Amino acid sequence: MKLTFLGTSHGVPSKEKYCSCCMLEVGDSIYFIDAGAPVVDELIRMDKNLNNVKAFFTTHAHGDHTNGLFNICHLFSWYFTKTSVDIFLTEERFKKAFIEMLTCLNTNNPPDESRLRIHIASSGVVFEDNNVRITYFPTAHMADRMLSYGILVEAEGHRILFSGDCSQHLAAHDLPPMLDTVPVDLFICELAHFGIEECGEYIERSLADRIIMTHVLESNLDALYEYAKTSNKQIETAYDRMEIVFD
Ligand SMILES: [Zn+2]
Ligand SMILES: [Zn+2]
Repeated sequence: MKLTFLGTSHGVPSKEKYCSCCMLEVGDSIYFIDAGAPVVDELIRMDKNLNNVKAFFTTHAHGDHTNGLFNICHLFSWYFTKTSVDIFLTEERFKKAFIEMLTCLNTNNPPDESRLRIHIASSGVVFEDNNVRITYFPTAHMADRMLSYGILVEAEGHRILFSGDCSQHLAAHDLPPMLDTVPVDLFICELAHFGIEECGEYIERSLADRIIMTHVLESNLDALYEYAKTSNKQIETAYDRMEIVFD
């Protein structure tokens, strides 16, 4: 299986980076963790078969994690009509607004909800098929105003752990609760709401073989590079189109 970073920026895109989006390919099947990048444009440019897109898992409603959903679901609703996907959002009112928007974008035709199945995620296992199992766990990124999650992906005997967006300065200590108890092949950690000096102790204690920092605030980069030189862990920084192949 292969993980490809399609967007690695935080909040706002840059000249080289779209916002948060990771594509997981297991066999022919395609899954997304967040969709802040122009997903459909990227899939077409990569010559992927859109019928192979199985599901989107969003960590929270912020636009830098969801903006790419609108265009791909719009095209799924009227043009790529052989597609059939599960879409996990985190807010009921987002779902309502999303369906309403898709309806407006398509001349007052509501999306076919038997093909575009929109779910509201909650803590625990939310999805399982022949390829992947997806577990959500809460973070305190938006305090008590809206819901936000990290995600554990299990596929083909591998585990990939996504921090999701966390609280400012890790005030809620909300890096993934299983970080130091569950071995994972890869931990993908955000670095916009705190610096490496604040999350370093968690990284060192983690059972992750490999760590990739993404969603990194530019002002956190220098300290991250310095830290990575002496860490006991393999720490890298994500870039758009970075590929990780799992044997
Ligand atoms: Zn974000
Ligand atoms: Zn956010």
